[in-house]
Amino acid sequence: MIAIVGAGLAGLSTAFHLKGPYRLFEKEKEAGGLCRSYQVDGFTFDLTGHLLHFRQAAIQTLVEGLLGGRLQKHVRRSYIYSHRTYTEYPFQVNTYGLPPDVVRECLLGFIATLTNPSPSRKDQAQTEPQSFKAWILENLGEGMAKHFMVPFNEKFWQAPLDELTSDWVSWLVPKPDLKDVVNGALGIKDKAFGYNPSFLYPAQGGIEALPKAFLPSVAEIAYGAELIEVETGKRRATFGDGRVLDYEQLVSTIPVTELVRLCADFPQGLREAAAGLRCVSVYSVNLGVARERLSDKHWIYFPEPDYPFYRAGFPMNFSPSLGPPGCSSLYVEISHRPTEHSRPAEVIRQVRGGLERGGILKPDDDILVADLRDIRYAYVLFDRHRAKVLPAILDELQRRGIHSIGRYGRWEHTSMEDAIDQGKKLAEHLNRSGQAQSTDRP
Ligand SMILES: Cc1cc2nc3c(=O)[nH]c(=O)nc-3n(C[C@H](O)[C@H](O)[C@H](O)COP(=O)(O)OP(=O)(O)OC[C@H]3O[C@@H](n4cnc5c(N)ncnc54)[C@H](O)[C@@H]3O)c2cc1C
Repeated sequence: MIAIVGAGLAGLSTAFHLKGPYRLFEKEKEAGGLCRSYQVDGFTFDLTGHLLHFRQAAIQTLVEGLLGGRLQKHVRRSYIYSHRTYTEYPFQVNTYGLPPDVVRECLLGFIATLTNPSPSRKDQAQTEPQSFKAWILENLGEGMAKHFMVPFNEKFWQAPLDELTSDWVSWLVPKPDLKDVVNGALGIKDKAFGYNPSFLYPAQGGIEALPKAFLPSVAEIAYGAELIEVETGKRRATFGDGRVLDYEQLVSTIPVTELVRLCADFPQGLREAAAGLRCVSVYSVNLGVARERLSDKHWIYFPEPDYPFYRAGFPMNFSPSLGPPGCSSLYVEISHRPTEHSRPAEVIRQVRGGLERGGILKPDDDILVADLRDIRYAYVLFDRHRAKVLPAILDELQRRGIHSIGRYGRWEHTSMEDAIDQGKKLAEHLNRSGQAQSTDRP
């Protein structure tokens, strides 16, 4: 028997692709994990924006097949708001419109990276992963660091950037060439940039339409079943609802930090190492406002400290069905350290103030819904500790018949597509290796 823990996209995709018997255990009363949506007073909200971008044709075909024509394609309209000006994302190739001295600093800084390779990189032994701060300075230069990359990322990660490594950056932060930077400073546009120049989103129902589409092909889900202990030596899992299961293989999609804590017989050194893995939490503040078309954009980044949030988005611009006619909805994202909390009413007050200062809300706007959800595990911190200990933790779990997958199972910065892909690949491996014996599957 294969036990799967967690019915987010990684767990659902594993179950969907397995050919043999399995049981799927989910601690909540519903499936979907981070890709759930919820309704309040006629508005449908996701846990902040959840937009689909595909790099793998096979996963795109699978998702399009599951959603049967219910996805709509959008050409990204994302912006950065700084110096009281909107510039297009990504910042590094779109500085046109900023004050001239800011544009000059960004250009000269970028040119300096081409003519003077970073001394830190030249002299340094290349055994240690490069810090994120050094990566920014080396690849984008001092001007872009000062006017966007450093303030934005410090707000986002809630940590000094020289504590972070740069091994996750390459696909998320596009590295431009000089022509693109100069064109961007002059307002000349001849191509699309970034990992998501367009995206797909369900026409109806919010992102939850995606996990829901897996459900008819997934049997044996136990809801309200929280994994509370694993005896790895006996291959035995205990759940909060009293179930005890002897498994052959365990597929876990819960945060690896939690998983290791639940494995009472795991080596002590690795338990301590797992406890030191860091992440940032996010307040997802969803607002319903009684005014049409608050913005024509999909989402906006806010690097400046005057705004407590790092991003705000407009779900009804992806799908008008997400709110009542004549209204707008917004998601606003605020990072915080997992150990530090603010009162929801205070966070919402600060959000409103920031949105008014940014010209998005007016003081007399009627806010119909203001709902805050705290995403405890939101963004994994890539630091030197993670680079050092994570491979050993995952290997030891694997040795004990536990496959830890998904965004938090592998403790990484990955997308919905990746979660689906990891579940598919693992199930195919288990099918091939005979660990998932063929059975009558619905
Ligand atoms: C703020 C934010 C915005 C994002 N935006 C995008 C985006 O625009 N596009 C994109 O592609 N991706 C986005 N992502 C990433 C995307 O949400 C994830 O990659 C994907 O949902 C991960 O799925 P998962 O199954 O690995 O994890 P999860 O969705 O976290 O699923 C894990 C499941 O395990 C359950 N669980 C936890 N502990 C236990 C336990 N002890 N016992 C039983 N069950 C348990 C949880 O309830 C949950 O259902 C975003 C993520 C965040 C945080």
